Amino acid sequence: MEKENLNSFESEKYSRQLPLITEEGQIRIKKLKISVLGAGGLGQPLLLYLVSSGFENIQFFEPDTVEASNLNRQFFFQKDHIGQRKGEIVRKSLMAVNPSASIVWQNKSLHDQNLEEALQGSALVLETTDNPELKFAVNDFLLRRRIPGFIGGVGRESGHIVPIYPDKACYRCVFREHLQNPFPSLLPPIAGIMGSMMAYLSIAFVMGNHRIFDNAYFLQNGRWFVSAKEFSELCPHHSGRSGSPSPPDGNLQ
Ligand SMILES: [Zn+2]
Repeated sequence: MEKENLNSFESEKYSRQLPLITEEGQIRIKKLKISVLGAGGLGQPLLLYLVSSGFENIQFFEPDTVEASNLNRQFFFQKDHIGQRKGEIVRKSLMAVNPSASIVWQNKSLHDQNLEEALQGSALVLETTDNPELKFAVNDFLLRRRIPGFIGGVGRESGHIVPIYPDKACYRCVFREHLQNPFPSLLPPIAGIMGSMMAYLSIAFVMGNHRIFDNAYFLQNGRWFVSAKEFSELCPHHSGRSGSPSPPDGNLQ
């Protein structure tokens, strides 16, 4: 097979990251099929950094319309957009960042019954919605199909990212119950921090750093906590492995 190279514009555009990622890595980034669930407070900074870093094969799911309460953190939207489909505006904004990218907007609500069809063929899945049931359903789907992914959430002054990877502790190992706040509140930059972190973890995954899947990442009131994920006895996927936390060297049996 003919070796693929970056063109001269791409080499210049990505010149500050190529020493870290390599040309081969940049081509993997370009081709990797990514699915992003949600294009709101967390999804927008994530999508922006994915596209500006060179990911060019993205589908994202977003069924909502723009509301005034979105405008403090969902930076692709302005007052004039209220009432319009979010996905259409987000797609247009991302295409302006990289017109060569393939960015597909799916105007669709996801649930456990349609995940299989929606996410088939994805090499990496990023969950950013505010739907707690969906986070658990995505966790189960990723484990079943052995697809890597990251599940992220934010609220108040805090956020979490749980990486999912075959044979490693999962979202249900970390969270037993749905995290639901009847009066959702959030400081806008928290979504920016966590969305950017999900984009960083995606790049680290493509660079082959699979150690990132051993941990869960938490921001609590302005402080980061990175903790090793452990198998939980209460997790239906991993209860038999209770007491076998991910070892520090990452070599799972
Ligand atoms: Zn588990």
